[in-house]
Amino acid sequence: MSNTSSEPDYYGGIEAGGTKFNCVVAGGPDRVALETRIPTTTPQETLDQVIAFFKRSALPIKSIGIGSFGPVDPDPNSPTFGYITSTPKLAWQHTDFAGAIRRALGVPIAFDTDVNAAAYGEHTWGAAQGLRTFVYYTIGTGIGGGGMVEGRLMHGLIHPEMGHVFLPHDRARDPYPGCCPYHGDCFEGLASGPAIAGRWGADPQTLPPDHPAWALEADYIALALVNTICILSPQRIILGGGVMERRFLFPMIRQRVQTLLNGYVVHAAILRDIDDYIVPPALGAQAGVLGAVALARDLC
Ligand code: ZN
Repeated sequence: MSNTSSEPDYYGGIEAGGTKFNCVVAGGPDRVALETRIPTTTPQETLDQVIAFFKRSALPIKSIGIGSFGPVDPDPNSPTFGYITSTPKLAWQHTDFAGAIRRALGVPIAFDTDVNAAAYGEHTWGAAQGLRTFVYYTIGTGIGGGGMVEGRLMHGLIHPEMGHVFLPHDRARDPYPGCCPYHGDCFEGLASGPAIAGRWGADPQTLPPDHPAWALEADYIALALVNTICILSPQRIILGGGVMERRFLFPMIRQRVQTLLNGYVVHAAILRDIDDYIVPPALGAQAGVLGAVALARDLC
């Protein structure tokens, strides 16, 4: 529907995470009219609060975008489109997330993974503008990766699960068995925030930059990035999430990526300009929820 008045359009954005839901009513990064954070409890309780937030908005909302923790079903042609599916958060398994929001609010719903939403936010307004092939990782409570290949958000069979790839795990150097409930020592099992906490018996936020935790962490992240570079040839890699708030990790990861690639991928982006190749999200912690807004805007 075209906007015939001079009023700017507003959209809803929902970034659904394992601990909280970030919700906004916005037109873009510089037009955030309303925002709230809602704790993730049961689907009924949390979604009721999300719906109440949007119903309180005095602004007309044209559509709502959702970027959700998962696994999810992002296939619009599937009968379970918009569902959270096999998540380890048991109360949320087989939850018709998009359907509940659509039925309550009566607007079109865009639905994707949390990391694809964040990637889309960065593509629209942030560090991936103008790029056709790039990857966005979140490294925090869990690890996930999404992004675009040749200008399209990656889906495929379901959606990528870049946090669950297997990495070389030297048990002599790192006897920690990993904490992924499905795989043990996959990338998330070795390098998520809970993995760092479990290995060292301390909150990662309290570990100083020279703690050996971080050299190991940078090694695991660099191994995953090198695999991604070899498989997808991304034009840039964006690293967000709570662990990456420790910004001293960036130079450690960049140096290890160069060492591991060993001159094989011949491009100035890696050989010379790696500071602009492996970067934090330009939208910071807002990438996901603003990406959900961008997904919603694209529906209209
Ligand atoms: Zn795993």
